[in-house]
Amino acid sequence: MNAGDTIAAISTPLGVGGIGIVRLSGPQAREILDRIFRRRGGEGPLRSHRFYLGEVLRPQDQRVIDEVLAVFMEKPKTYTREEVAEIQAHSGVLVLQEILEAVLRCGARLAEPGEFTRRAFLNGRIDLTQAEAVIDLIQSKTRRSLELANLQRQGRLGREVKEIREELADLLALMEAGIDFPEEEIPGLSGGEIHRRLRAAQEKLDSLLRTYDEGKIYRQGVAAVIIGRPNVGKSSLLNSLLREDRAIVTPIPGTTRDVIEEVANVRGIPLKIMDTAGLRHTQDAVEIEGVRRTRDRLAQADLVIWVVDGSESLNAEDLDILPEVRGKKSVVAINKNDLPRRLNPQDLAGLLPGVPLIAVSALHHSGIDLLEGAIREVVLNGQEDSSSEVLLSNLRHKQALEKAREGLARALEASAANLSPEFISTDLGQALHALGEIVGETTSEDILDRIFSQFCIGK
Ligand code: GDP
Repeated sequence: MNAGDTIAAISTPLGVGGIGIVRLSGPQAREILDRIFRRRGGEGPLRSHRFYLGEVLRPQDQRVIDEVLAVFMEKPKTYTREEVAEIQAHSGVLVLQEILEAVLRCGARLAEPGEFTRRAFLNGRIDLTQAEAVIDLIQSKTRRSLELANLQRQGRLGREVKEIREELADLLALMEAGIDFPEEEIPGLSGGEIHRRLRAAQEKLDSLLRTYDEGKIYRQGVAAVIIGRPNVGKSSLLNSLLREDRAIVTPIPGTTRDVIEEVANVRGIPLKIMDTAGLRHTQDAVEIEGVRRTRDRLAQADLVIWVVDGSESLNAEDLDILPEVRGKKSVVAINKNDLPRRLNPQDLAGLLPGVPLIAVSALHHSGIDLLEGAIREVVLNGQEDSSSEVLLSNLRHKQALEKAREGLARALEASAANLSPEFISTDLGQALHALGEIVGETTSEDILDRIFSQFCIGK
């Protein structure tokens, strides 16, 4: 990868649509745009950050490819901090490919996945947490996830980590001065002061680490399964939670044979729901396969939604499912609440103490709101939504913070044991390195490659 060249890519999804964009970044962006773009009714150089109407022509034969809007953006006020050009064409697969070919022919190179954002990071416009937030933003499934991704994109997490890192770096510099000039008195560097500063940094790391469980839920979602014997209304409940008719609902038992996976928005939590074939004993080969898959999904699930039919009393087939629910985060939906009640909730309460039992009618979409509230409580362990604006949500960040915390813990031990300052400063150096990995200051090329390869080409 060479930052000196000019990269280009189709930055919109390939397909038929209103507008498709070819983007260029690098020192030749302007020159390439000038070669292929013929402005309508105007002469002279394009002004920066202005849209111009015109046509794109093939450089080899001047044949018109499309009528477009083009913009040239002078650095540094661009996405990558390099010269950037964008061509907004009609979104047809061939149109965009021909425009891309034209810019490649004029000297640009096809961008690698995430290379525009990587350049923004390498050129110091954003830190690594902000670059990662771009992926989170694109993949957000609920408004809350989007809000958190935007806070990270704005640099809140990065700033917090950098502040802790700077405080520790100052401390390290003082300590190293003390090591280099042991005969001199370094102000503010008594053993007690070192200890106090290390503790303060450790507390900040701890409070960030505590936000991970919640942050992860909003970023990655929660894997949930809907289980229950046939015909209790699992598919209907799934549809109700999705508020869309996606699963096929039929009154013939055992017809939801495969596992359907959908993402429902449960009060901001992306709930990845798997509607399953149920767990009943069966001889049918297809159904056996369905049951096997159900067990696999159950093993991976963070949450179990057990559906029972409230219009019938609990039977042996229901009770078969009980062991699958016990010991998991779960809620019970007592369905068909529109019909006369036969099931006694007390029976269930005795079997699953502490598990919320919610009466719903999937068919009439009633009680779903209560069920969503119960799901949210169970998933968040009854905690109220934290008001904290910085939520840790990325495993990479969590692991690096833990590494930093370990370094600090060792430094604190060394300082408590009155070990020589060299020991403390080595541990402190490791903590600093781990914090630098989060924002991208000390991150290895391997890790950067891994992060940016998750992007699509054109981002
Ligand atoms: P599954 O086999 O558990 O997925 O159950 P389905 O969702 O396919 O529903 C089985 C049958 O029960 C269908 O005829 C549904 O219309 C019906 N059903 C589902 N939910 C309700 C409900 O809340 N009330 C009533 N009266 N019928 C329901």
